[in-house]
Order: sequence, then C-alpha cells, then structure tokens
Amino acid sequence: MTEAEVLEKYREAGRILAEVRTDAIKTIKVGKKLLDAAESIETLIQQKGGAVAFPTNISVNEEAAHATPSKADASTFGTDLVKLDIGVHIDGYIADTAVTIDLGNNKELVDASNSALERAIEVVRAGVDLAAISEVIEDTITDYGYLPVANLTGHGLERYTQHAPPAIHNRRTQSGAKLKEGQVVAIEPFSSAGNGRVYETGKAEIFSLIKAKPVRSPEARAILKDIDAYKTLPFAKRWLQGRVDLGLKQLETAGIIRAYPVLKDRGFVSQAEDTLIVTNDGSEVITRI
Ligand code: MN
Ligand code: MN
Repeated sequence: MTEAEVLEKYREAGRILAEVRTDAIKTIKVGKKLLDAAESIETLIQQKGGAVAFPTNISVNEEAAHATPSKADASTFGTDLVKLDIGVHIDGYIADTAVTIDLGNNKELVDASNSALERAIEVVRAGVDLAAISEVIEDTITDYGYLPVANLTGHGLERYTQHAPPAIHNRRTQSGAKLKEGQVVAIEPFSSAGNGRVYETGKAEIFSLIKAKPVRSPEARAILKDIDAYKTLPFAKRWLQGRVDLGLKQLETAGIIRAYPVLKDRGFVSQAEDTLIVTNDGSEVITRI
C-alpha cells in the first residue's frame, strides 16, 4: 500500500470517529446508563463502516483513563465530569479522540485541556521539536491554575498499535525528537485539580494481547480464540463470551495479555484529544469534521 493510501485509511477512520463523537456527546446525560452509552457508541462505529479500535473509555471525575463499564454495570451518570475516549480503525489504521463532558460545574478545568490541545495543534508542523509541544501544553494548563498529568502522554499511531512512539508529554521535557511529515500522532492534554499524577486502581475491564503463545487451559484457549480479531488492540472483558475471570488471570500470569487498570488522580481530571497528520506547514486534524 502506498503512503497516500494509508493516509486515506486514517482519514476515513477520523471522519467516522468525528461523526460518532458528535452523536455520542448527546447520549451522555445525567440519569443515563454508562453501559448503554458505551454499547451504543461501539454499535454506531460499526454501522458507519468502522471497526472499534478500543473499548469506549468512560472515565468520571478523578478517573483519568481506562475505565469502561462491565456487563453488569448498572451505574448512571450523575453531575459528573465525564471523559469520553473513543477510537476507530480501518484495516488497523487508528484514529483516537477524547472529549470531556461536564455534567457538573467544572468549566475552567474543561477549558484548560481544550485550550492546551488547541495551542499544541497550532505549533505542530514537520520539524518541530516535541519539547515545544509539551511546553505549550504545560504552560496553558498551569495558566488556568491546574497541573498537567505527568504520567499520561500523547503518542504516535501505527497499524494495530494505539500507543506507538513518540510519546508526546504533557509536561516540559528535554526531547530532541522532531515530528516528520506524514507522521500520525494523537495529542492528549490532561488537566488535573489533584496531584497531576495518576495511579492504577481497581479491577481492570480492559486488556490487550502482548503475544499469543500455546496454552493448555481450555478457559485461556477460548479467550485467545475470541480475541483473535482484535490483534494487539485493546478489548473489553464485556466483549467476551461466558465466564472469563479464570482464563484472563491465566493469560495475564503467562505474560500473554496485559491488563489496563483504571487510572485515577487525587482530584478531578479533564482531557481533550485529537489525531493529526503532520504536514510541512502544520497539520491536518483528522478527527474533526
Ligand atoms: Mn484516546
Ligand atoms: Mn490516545
């Protein structure tokens, strides 16, 4: 496939994702079920001809990322600060976007991440040092009186790999690495009213394959068969058939899959994310219509 054909697949993934995001925002309302929101988003992606790149992440309040409802989750939205992070792929070429929906009273915190993303996009072009992007993100967020989350970063995107190099830090860094024309990257500032550091907590609902290996346990084998289609992309426990706790544990212990526990800060967190193609004079934001 030529580079132009690959970029067309990214654009198609981005266009579908932008449409889904617009609809998805309307489903996030006080009293609505998180599980219904997650499932309707994943259905809509497929109806529009895309593949779900990773489980719908719905992280509320102090949660920053990696939360998705379980099959049994009956919880509903309250006056929460909701981060919706969604992805579409076409033949493995991924578009990744996130938006914060404020059902409470957190306007400044939401604005901080949105402004940081806008200002970061303004400095993106081929040849720019990643440190310049990190600096503008940190400065924008701290101007609002919040902290950038230090241990969550933007990233490159590669076929069937959601988090590829380079890491695009949300806090000042010495980089040296420069963006290249045609590179596809996701920029995702997180603003925190807490410590600006997330920690792992709770039971994971999201997993991904590291590398398939032969296993004897029938439970583990059944899961490996079930997740074959996702390749190395993240999948949700609720997407699997039957009782899977034992098999997941065995696969994790054998180093075949990894778990993504929920990441939380000690205060509320907002996020904004878009995926872009780097060009010589700027960028093409593919997750906006
Ligand atoms: Mn994302
Ligand atoms: Mn991302």
